[in-house]
Amino acid sequence: MGLLDQRFENGNVFVTSVDTLLNWARLSSLWGMQFGLACCAIEMMATGASHYDFDRFGTFFRGSPRQSDVMIVAGTVTLKMASRIKTLYDQMSEPRYVISMGSCSNCGGPYWEHGYHVLKGVDRIIPVDVYVPGCPPRPEALMEGLMKLQEKIRGESLVKEKTA
Ligand code: SF4
Repeated sequence: MGLLDQRFENGNVFVTSVDTLLNWARLSSLWGMQFGLACCAIEMMATGASHYDFDRFGTFFRGSPRQSDVMIVAGTVTLKMASRIKTLYDQMSEPRYVISMGSCSNCGGPYWEHGYHVLKGVDRIIPVDVYVPGCPPRPEALMEGLMKLQEKIRGESLVKEKTA
């Protein structure tokens, strides 16, 4: 169900315009959950620093899941941290998104076979929208991952179910 279900009684043109406006606003202000798990987080921090300037995408890191739109899982997801990540994800408001950054988060990375303490992919506990490969991915790769997420949001509809 769309978040704005039953708010608009008129036709598709109006709904499409509303969707375009809302999606433009949402994809231009994706605030990120501020936490890192391991070495990939260093590259995430570099992406946010002045040279790469993540801010120009409207992406600001927040200290609270309740103010965040996107969780960037950057680093090794140990079994100990997995339940914390799930809790933080559950505390984020809908619509919420997840970028899995790096091999560890994608599939366990260097620990995929013998890492008894590592979750073999964060998608085992939360849904992932974009996977960014690498060990670690460079800041350019994370920025491309964010742009992929923006593409996905551009194609979403918050009101389409009403007119279906
Ligand atoms: S993918 Fe590589 S760089 Fe990233 S957290 Fe794992 S070991 Fe570190």
